[in-house]
Amino acid sequence: MTDSLHGHKARKRFGQNFLEDDNVINNIVHAIAPQVGDNMVEIGPGLAALTRFLLPACQKLHVIELDRDLAARLPNTLAGLGELHLHQADALNFDFAQLASIEHPLRIVGNLPYNISTPLIFHLLSFSHIVKDMTFMLQKEVVDRLAGEPATADYGRLSVMVQYRCQVDWLLDVPPEAFNPPPKVQSAVVRLTPWQNSPYNCQNETLLQHIVSTAFNQRRKTLRNCLKGLAEDADFIAVDIDPSLRAEVLSVQQFVQLTNQLNRHV
Ligand code: SAM
Repeated sequence: MTDSLHGHKARKRFGQNFLEDDNVINNIVHAIAPQVGDNMVEIGPGLAALTRFLLPACQKLHVIELDRDLAARLPNTLAGLGELHLHQADALNFDFAQLASIEHPLRIVGNLPYNISTPLIFHLLSFSHIVKDMTFMLQKEVVDRLAGEPATADYGRLSVMVQYRCQVDWLLDVPPEAFNPPPKVQSAVVRLTPWQNSPYNCQNETLLQHIVSTAFNQRRKTLRNCLKGLAEDADFIAVDIDPSLRAEVLSVQQFVQLTNQLNRHV
């Protein structure tokens, strides 16, 4: 426990690493560029390092905090700064659709608990049709995977499914010293912007998810072996993909083309 945490003991199981560096906080808030009228939700406000700037800028803010003790403090900490809508809940199964519509899409932000960041991103992707943008602090390794290019070690299921739905922009790197307690890893801030006009025309998104996860399940194997029972050689040839390649070399567009080809048999 340290004084700067105002008597709170950071809980590892909730991925609690609190931002303390004023420059970094300022840079993140600047990157988010909160505006009056934004339909913004912050995941994991914690001790309100970002919230104390986001709330007055938006005047109204939803926050989702799992830790009961931290959630209980927030109304006092943020009193008088704006209209706070506190949800003491687990963001992993939170229904974000209740906060937004296509006319009032969400801006989702947060210094995310690193232990749940990948499943949380997959959960959030299912709401991308009602999301304007998402700005997150994450473990740098996860940001590298989000932005991963084909034929690199970072490229995998997360890269394909996120890039299928969103434009990915790396914003800044953040060192461990910016946090209390400092995490053991480097961090980075990334913006995910769901496509307004998607460059991809996928005819069956459920099938795409299935193909991508099956193809990357055993990433050392060829596509022919990984997708046995799902795709014939003729399917690969029809979309000009060599079945002896591995999943890691296929672009998002090629996964979509293969999905559309297989969707003809469904
Ligand atoms: N925003 C604060 C900051 O930047 O200093 C805290 C960030 S800390 C990395 C992650 C926060 O997410 C903590 O407040 C933690 O309690 C909260 N949290 C952890 N798991 C959560 C979950 N499943 N749903 C919502 N909040 C969660």
